[in-house]
Amino acid sequence: MSQGSSHAVVIGGSIAGLLAARVLTEHFAHVTILERDDLPAHTEGRRGVPQSHQPHTLLLRGKRILEQLYPGIAEDFRRHGALTGDMTGAGRIAVGRTYMTKYHSGLPLLFASRPLLERVVRDRTRALPGVSVVRGAAQGLLTTPDKRKVIGVHYRTGETDGQSLRADLVVDASGRGTRLPAWLSDLGYEKPQESRLPVNVGYTTRYYRREPTHLDGDLLFGVFLQQPKDRRAVTILALEDDRWHVALAGWHGEHAPADDAGFLEFARGYEHPDVHRFIRSLEPVSEFATHKYPANTRRHYERLKRFPEGLLVIGDALCSFNPTYGQGMTVAGLEALALERTLRRLRGRSLWKAYFKAAAAAVETPWSMATGGDGSYPESTWKRPLAARLLAGYFTRVQAAAMVDDEVRRSFFEVLHLVKPPTVFFSLPFVLRVLRASRSSMREGDRAA
Ligand SMILES: Cc1cc2nc3c(=O)[nH]c(=O)nc-3n(C[C@H](O)[C@H](O)[C@H](O)COP(=O)(O)OP(=O)(O)OC[C@H]3O[C@@H](n4cnc5c(N)ncnc54)[C@H](O)[C@@H]3O)c2cc1C
Repeated sequence: MSQGSSHAVVIGGSIAGLLAARVLTEHFAHVTILERDDLPAHTEGRRGVPQSHQPHTLLLRGKRILEQLYPGIAEDFRRHGALTGDMTGAGRIAVGRTYMTKYHSGLPLLFASRPLLERVVRDRTRALPGVSVVRGAAQGLLTTPDKRKVIGVHYRTGETDGQSLRADLVVDASGRGTRLPAWLSDLGYEKPQESRLPVNVGYTTRYYRREPTHLDGDLLFGVFLQQPKDRRAVTILALEDDRWHVALAGWHGEHAPADDAGFLEFARGYEHPDVHRFIRSLEPVSEFATHKYPANTRRHYERLKRFPEGLLVIGDALCSFNPTYGQGMTVAGLEALALERTLRRLRGRSLWKAYFKAAAAAVETPWSMATGGDGSYPESTWKRPLAARLLAGYFTRVQAAAMVDDEVRRSFFEVLHLVKPPTVFFSLPFVLRVLRASRSSMREGDRAA
């Protein structure tokens, strides 16, 4: 696309919208982010992103994408107080009652609150030439009379309806509550098919004061769950401003109460006694925050036969994942890269077809990982592919082997963090290593129980 006076509008100024805007600046002269919230100048949560108050892990792949799109961003995070630590050396990770052996992987993980992550990406995006932000809530699409092409967005600001922005391209990054399928239907298009895997996950979280001596300076304490046996996960992350962010998460209605006594009692229910012991020792510095997440939801735009030109979708509006896997922001980054590649190589092909195909490919592995785990609960009516069911036992062994074997642990985390494909688990030397290490790990686990 030649730049000239071209204009792209992105609906939504959260992570996916910001990353889309960043990529679009290379292909459009002007990029407008249409956001219904007043975007704060500082590090603070906001109404349009209610998950702001929940812990957000940026997977290693996501961190690399941010560094690729915004050179030097690691320094911006550091300047604002974010911490970094080795993925398998700076924290304590347990499965059941047993801790993984620590080792220095050389893979640096970022520790920052969600408002800080968003603020740094927002500051960098807003500073790009051609980017502007308009405050307003999108209400529908502006199209050519034959409805074949989207040429803008209708929006409202406060009480004022009927405003519009003209655009050569509109990108929907309005999150999982997107109204786009309804708007498409109003224009006479089919809605995309939806894959939906209910999980009824609940987060109850709170900030606590962090002393440098806590956990001997470690930055993370987490208990991985063994699905479908376990329904509770815990993440305790060190954050900027000397805080711990403690999150107790549970599947299928097993949600921690948001009061002192109930929260601690829930923490006592974890198999690992250190969960309760550690949380009980901490001093709270906030109220509790809760968040309910109903279902993994994927919209299959790539399957549509008809779709208007000049319109795309990115982020949670395209595919929203059970947040306990920490994939959402990273997948938004993968989709932004898919958008960049598509725009660069377009040469006369239909943009939406090429983009949705590329985005579906980017979503596939994380989607299989999330649905493979969540589909294993007896409540789930999700039809896991035969391969996923057959391989579930092997993945349990990979996890067990990762407890004690450095090489398996590194690959395990690289796959989980979307840096390497799950196929690395299937080379013959790796399989033999897993079988050997998992036997000794399971024996140790039995002794700890
Ligand atoms: C509890 C919880 C924990 C999570 N933890 C993690 C994690 O650890 N790691 C991770 O990578 N991801 C995590 N996620 C997912 C992550 O928050 C999202 O994937 C990420 O924010 C990208 O989403 P998005 O930008 O597509 O949408 P959102 O973040 O939902 O943002 C949508 C934006 O669009 C705006 N908007 C909506 N409607 C309109 C409209 N009509 N007009 C204008 N603007 C509009 C909203 O105000 C908002 O700014 C978590 C999610 C939840 C719910």
